[in-house]
Amino acid sequence: MDAPDSLDRADPLAAFRDRFDLPAGVIYLDGNSLGPLPKATRARLAEVIDRHWGRDLIASWTVNGWMDLPLRIGAKLGRLLGAEPDSMVAGDSTSVNLFQALAAALALRPDRRVILSETGNFPTDLYMAEGLAALLGRGHAFRQAPADAIEAALDETVAVLLLTHVNYRSGRMHDMARLTAAAHAAGAITVWDLSHSAGAVPVDLAGSAADFAVGCGYKFLNGGPGAPGYLYIAPRHQTAPLPLTGWIGHAEPFAFAPSYRPAEGIGRARVGTPPILGLAALEVGVDLALEADIRLVREKSVRMTELFLRLAATSLPGFGIATPRDPDARGSQVCLTHPDAAAIMRRLAARGIVGDFRPPDVLRFGITPLTLRYAELWQVIAALAEG
Ligand SMILES: *Cc1c(COP(=O)(O)O)cnc(C)c1O
Repeated sequence: MDAPDSLDRADPLAAFRDRFDLPAGVIYLDGNSLGPLPKATRARLAEVIDRHWGRDLIASWTVNGWMDLPLRIGAKLGRLLGAEPDSMVAGDSTSVNLFQALAAALALRPDRRVILSETGNFPTDLYMAEGLAALLGRGHAFRQAPADAIEAALDETVAVLLLTHVNYRSGRMHDMARLTAAAHAAGAITVWDLSHSAGAVPVDLAGSAADFAVGCGYKFLNGGPGAPGYLYIAPRHQTAPLPLTGWIGHAEPFAFAPSYRPAEGIGRARVGTPPILGLAALEVGVDLALEADIRLVREKSVRMTELFLRLAATSLPGFGIATPRDPDARGSQVCLTHPDAAAIMRRLAARGIVGDFRPPDVLRFGITPLTLRYAELWQVIAALAEG
């Protein structure tokens, strides 16, 4: 078996660890829930607070580029996620963006009444779909199918397929191109949630012919607590009306016109005044993600999850494995199961190993290739084996 130290020495991403501020004595396996603090974020926020806000005041909207931030970061995310130019914007939460995308998608299929999602999708995706269906009051039904039964559930009644690319609980990753093609063949529009994908796995929005996508900035993108999320709208859908007609999405916000006229293109997907401090921190995380080659990130992530599962299978009798065994069907996390999962996670935390407990019996370990060392995987397995 490979020795952890030689793997770490040969790791082309090893230098990224030092770009983050991680407390000593902590093995952090929760970067898929809250990414750690990039060292550059502190200086960037100090600059935006002290120089932009503190000194330049309101002029910062233009002279310091504040107004451009949602589209500037959107363009960077577009590069990371394989989107067409001018098709992404950052600034609102994933939940709000889900509402925007889902409503626009439903409006593109006015004769259909079914929103199809996956059983066990992330709660906000399910709740936003329920809430939107109730608000529309046009008899939309919200249906959920298990991961393996989604293609079979795509029929001529489905208006929108709402899927999370990598499931937050199981780590299972869908084939975006394949399911998008299946949805399109059935006449449905797709809304993809990339919260557990961006910065962790390669995504090709344009190549997959995706229609809409949303996602989080505070997970693998390391954008900080509650970082703004993002919205992708394929160019062919950018004339479709969006439900949240805030003034920043207006064609001429500073004309202060009495009625709404949407901006051309993706600019209309902005809603209110952009959250500058949050966006400034997010941009640092996105820049780091772009600097690291996503193919190398994926390579290390697959090697690490394979290794973790192999070590678990040999050293941890009594634990189940809840993540797909096929690396092509797995995102950047490993999930074990154990009847005492909650207590085990508490004992790990007492030793400085931070993961997640997901009821009833799941131990979730996020694999973040920019910060995690191979040697740490052995330490985690050893701690789990000791109980
Ligand atoms: C984390 C996560 C969210 C979070 O949405 P917020 O609006 O940022 O709270 C949404 N969807 C998925 C799939 C997630 O994993």
